[in-house]
Amino acid sequence: MLNETHKFDDCIDCKKCMSGCVMLHDFTTSPKTLLQNFKQNKPSSDISFSCATCNYCYSVCPSDISFKEVFKDAKIEHAKSDKILKSFGYKSVLFHQKHSFSKMFTAKTKFSIGEYKNMAFMPGCALSSYSPKLVHDIYSHLHFTMPGINILQQCCGQPTRIVGDINRFTQLYSKLSADINTMQIDTVITACENCYVSLKEFSPTINVVSLYDILAHVGIPKNKIGVYSTHKNVALHDPCPTRHENSLHVSVRKLLDKLGLNYEEFKNNREKTECCGSGGMLELTNPKLAIEQMNSRANQTSCDTIVSYCQSCAESMSRGGKNGVHILDLIFADNVIEGFSQKKNSVVKKWYNRYKSKKMIEKLC
Ligand code: SF4
Ligand code: SF4
Repeated sequence: MLNETHKFDDCIDCKKCMSGCVMLHDFTTSPKTLLQNFKQNKPSSDISFSCATCNYCYSVCPSDISFKEVFKDAKIEHAKSDKILKSFGYKSVLFHQKHSFSKMFTAKTKFSIGEYKNMAFMPGCALSSYSPKLVHDIYSHLHFTMPGINILQQCCGQPTRIVGDINRFTQLYSKLSADINTMQIDTVITACENCYVSLKEFSPTINVVSLYDILAHVGIPKNKIGVYSTHKNVALHDPCPTRHENSLHVSVRKLLDKLGLNYEEFKNNREKTECCGSGGMLELTNPKLAIEQMNSRANQTSCDTIVSYCQSCAESMSRGGKNGVHILDLIFADNVIEGFSQKKNSVVKKWYNRYKSKKMIEKLC
């Protein structure tokens, strides 16, 4: 049984939560009945690990019910059993986390002079796996506009947290905290939306700023201003972890305007955005559902290209059948300007890219 704070009795069965959630459609025809069942019995591991933790349900619910919170508590309970965790792909999570926090794939470079020497840019796992050159170009631009800014390639531990293994997450996150302390930084600039929310929640004394807010403020490279004015319309997908960060939504739209790119909004956007299909480690815990959600989201627009500001979202939109692109590609990577599409990397190539990114960061010394 779960605790009382989940408002099990407040559901009016309007089904608004189901409209943007493939998972709820797959498991029920009545959220009210589902919630009543949860009053008596803990949600099964199958349904709990099928929740992408996107919180779309809460954003549209007239009764402020969050299935995300219900399933988050249930995942923590289920995660106490190694057997259950293993049946939801946890071996892959452990592999990912072990290497993400290893010396082989982490790096930090600290400068001792410059106005911004107390700040660090944190690209996040997905971006360094995608393109070390992009990480380099972003950092160069930041260093040019914000002298002395540092760089930290480290994971935020979100994969262990999201599947409910809180003990391991706490252990891993302490490594990130230790890095931040050693570097004596008080502000972290994140490119990844998961890093952004993790740092905000677990490092409350640190000032966490999104890269997109920073770029909207310091400006984009001059040679990219207006370069996409003749390109056909794209759609803009807002990532779900930062659905409540209004300033971030505004900044990203300002950046698209600076690029001269015409974009269309999804019907469900900003705080009501839907999951791209990669939330909650769904590709491991329920791969079939992940693909269903990717297809569902990608096909809610008639545009061929979908731009986002999360690398996982960009990849999900491509897997959903559209051309997923990161806004950072458009701002920094020369090759995308011609082809306007992302290079697809194998798993091995992604780890190699992370290693290259680490080496590049170490050379900055
Ligand atoms: S949106 Fe809220 S009130 Fe409506 S069915 Fe879903 S949980 Fe119930
Ligand atoms: S958090 Fe997202 S995936 Fe989970 S139930 Fe709510 S809308 Fe569905």
